[in-house]
Amino acid sequence: MMQQYMETKKEYSDCILFYRLGDFYEMFFDDALTASRELEITLTGKNCGLEERAPMCGVPYHAVDIYLNKLVSKGYKVAICEQMEDPATAKGLVKREVVRIVTPGTNLSMQTLDETKNNYIMCVVYIADRYGLSVADITTGDYFVTELDSSGKLLDEICKFMPSELICNEAFFISGLDIDDLRERLKITIYSLESWYFDDAICVRRLKEHFHVSSMEGLGIADYSCGIIGAGALLIYLEETQKNSLSHLTRLTPYATGKYMLLDSSTRRNLELTETLREKNKRGSLLWVLDKTKTAMGARTLRKYIEQPLIHKESIERRLDAVEELKSNAISREEIREYLSPVYDLERLVTKITYKSANPRDMIAFQSSLAMLPHIRYILEDMQSPLLKKLWEDLDTLEDLCTLISSAICEEPPLAMKEGDIIRDGYNEEVDRLRSAKTEGKNWLADLEAEEREKTGIKNLRVKYNKVFGYYLEVTNSYKNLVPDYYTRKQTLANAERYITPRLKELEDTILGAEDKLYALEYELYCEVRDIVGREVVRIQNTAKAIADIDVLASLALVAERNNYIRPKINENGKIEIKDGRHPVVEKMIPNDMFIANDTFLDDKKKRIAIITGPNMAGKSTYMRQTALIVLMAQIGSFVPASEANIGIVDRIFTRVGASDDLASGQSTFMVEMTEVANILRNATKNSLLILDEIGRGTSTFDGLSIAWAVVEHISNTKLLGAKTLFATHYHELTELEGKIDNVNNYCIAVKEKGDDIVFLRKIVKGGADKSYGIQVAKLAGVPESVISRAKEIAEELLNADITGRIKDIAAGGHEAAVKTKKYDDVDLAQMSLFDTVKDDDVLEELKNLDISHLTPIDALNTLYQLQNKL
Ligand code: ADP
Repeated sequence: MMQQYMETKKEYSDCILFYRLGDFYEMFFDDALTASRELEITLTGKNCGLEERAPMCGVPYHAVDIYLNKLVSKGYKVAICEQMEDPATAKGLVKREVVRIVTPGTNLSMQTLDETKNNYIMCVVYIADRYGLSVADITTGDYFVTELDSSGKLLDEICKFMPSELICNEAFFISGLDIDDLRERLKITIYSLESWYFDDAICVRRLKEHFHVSSMEGLGIADYSCGIIGAGALLIYLEETQKNSLSHLTRLTPYATGKYMLLDSSTRRNLELTETLREKNKRGSLLWVLDKTKTAMGARTLRKYIEQPLIHKESIERRLDAVEELKSNAISREEIREYLSPVYDLERLVTKITYKSANPRDMIAFQSSLAMLPHIRYILEDMQSPLLKKLWEDLDTLEDLCTLISSAICEEPPLAMKEGDIIRDGYNEEVDRLRSAKTEGKNWLADLEAEEREKTGIKNLRVKYNKVFGYYLEVTNSYKNLVPDYYTRKQTLANAERYITPRLKELEDTILGAEDKLYALEYELYCEVRDIVGREVVRIQNTAKAIADIDVLASLALVAERNNYIRPKINENGKIEIKDGRHPVVEKMIPNDMFIANDTFLDDKKKRIAIITGPNMAGKSTYMRQTALIVLMAQIGSFVPASEANIGIVDRIFTRVGASDDLASGQSTFMVEMTEVANILRNATKNSLLILDEIGRGTSTFDGLSIAWAVVEHISNTKLLGAKTLFATHYHELTELEGKIDNVNNYCIAVKEKGDDIVFLRKIVKGGADKSYGIQVAKLAGVPESVISRAKEIAEELLNADITGRIKDIAAGGHEAAVKTKKYDDVDLAQMSLFDTVKDDDVLEELKNLDISHLTPIDALNTLYQLQNKL
């Protein structure tokens, strides 16, 4: 047996091998060490002919799913090796085979997977500077392919799909993407496959065979030469791990990334689209507000809508039309939602059906879901909007399958498939006949019991049954003396004896024979029904998709109604005009309608950039995010929280928010900030929307201000970029830019002074703030009074030194000079930490060495400031 184990293990060396031994799956050697550690199960040993006992541990077969999922969720691959024959009847060593390999991206366990999320596996091939990308969810049958020309775009796609497993060719590891980051931060299991998986000819052949097409044109993917390899390699890998037909992968959908709004990973996180930044909870995200879906398919689809907003007016309007109709038609909508409630996850059920792992109860859950479809379709019939009409058309009510299942399978079947009670009376004559033989058999037994009582005079003689002895006659001890000769004793209990007779055996054979036949036939018929349903996988998947869309649109309509959203107008002339906009999440988090609505106006002309000032806590970042979210919501086809909105379609949204949020990533916060700024400046277009919060906060005031300044100049220059931008800053100096650059405008979030304190008004108004109220905010936060009063003293002193005032002067005189910072880095390097002790001599030395003739005014000021600080 150990030899058999070793041979199997050699073939699956990259997996933990679950080796079936009777009622256990056993693991040996290194696998046992790993599993006992990860699963916290006891490590034992087994004699296997070697000098030392082999480390061994095992898990019981009936609880295998729990252990399997634990290992897989930690990124391991597990190969399941089953006994292929009955050990009781096998001659010699029991035959065993690996029947399935479970990996993070190919886990089918419905109990452990989140039903509101897809579980994707992604394959990436890097060939000659291009990336072929294919993604599949084997639990739902989704299967996509595309091609990308840069690692940045690939990263965006990875962040969009968030696969649990990524397979790739070797070259991918040297393509420039930070693989460790993907593994550690995004928790993706990544490994390369051998090169033959990526053989062009093999990939094309496998795809042709699977989809029964003669060429790649037939699949509409001929243009994706790398993508084809990605999709082919993925298919081969799935076949190898699943060892199953994969007939539910019915289509390979090519998609162009240009069809959707581009959102990079930090923007997805910062806008808290599907989970919050800190706790990673759904509660508090946009998805949380919008998700009132009734089905798992709807929940997954809404997530997809949010993850890929549209950029074509027509498709956005199509969704908005449908949402509007369902909003105004509340009665029909609620009726639809009621019928959606009992609908199970058709996509995942049909996968189980095609895998032949669906049990009779799954089939009944499936059938009861199908029973809702005609009602939903009937209600949709009256709908006018083109999208709802199309969904009505797409919704195949699958009545043939529903009837088949309900006529064939009992309403409440057992979980077990081989113990009868599955097939309904009247579905099959032979089943009915065998079943009545079984019932008749019961009558025969009752007759026999009466007869024997009569004959022997044993009044409480009973015919009973158990699995070990079959049927027997039970006689209590008090009647033992009446037992006749032809009874054969089988078993003695404390108070009774059990017997059989030849006649009883005869009846037993007939009855059990009928039962065996019946159970086998029921199982056969059950499988037949399951196969018939499985063959309709395409129709079922199409219907599931239609149901998912209907569910999402109804959810958006309901949310719009409940939250007082309005339909946004959509334009293509670059104007974003929002009246009384609200933050969809924050307004839900604060009590009693306390949220203060604000307007936004941005266009491609004079109002391209808004510089927003105001004290901390005033509401700057809430305001900026709300604008981004309203635009994004409009582009997924949702109504928006505002009293009026006219949204110019944006191609990308970029966000750069407070540096402190990125502490976890391990890089210097300033470095993270600058990397993101670099990414934005390189990849934004004039049709993008930028949300920049406190750029330059992570470095010294002068560096920070200069960088912020230069960034605004760059963005505002339509020849360089010209993106619409909301720019929050605590550098009041930047308000100087209004009037100098004609598309920059100042706004501030109003606060009211009340004696020594401030009151937040949360209202955005024209103009720049000139005070930062930092000390007042610190006071509000509960910083001790002694610190507050000392801070006031220091502020007074600094004000007298009038440093900021002087910067303003310089800026007013020519901002170009302020940002033209020659030898800037040198100055920066000379900065000393607050805690360094410096001798005055050093200061003198530095002063002496200054090359004044080459210093810009701001450099001079900067240096002076630092020198003064050192004294
Ligand atoms: P800032 O970015 O200016 O420091 P935030 O946007 O983080 O300020 O806002 C601070 C808090 O103020 C938010 O957590 C929110 O509770 C509240 N807030 C912000 N905007 C509004 C508003 N328009 N109406 C009501 N409360 C608001």
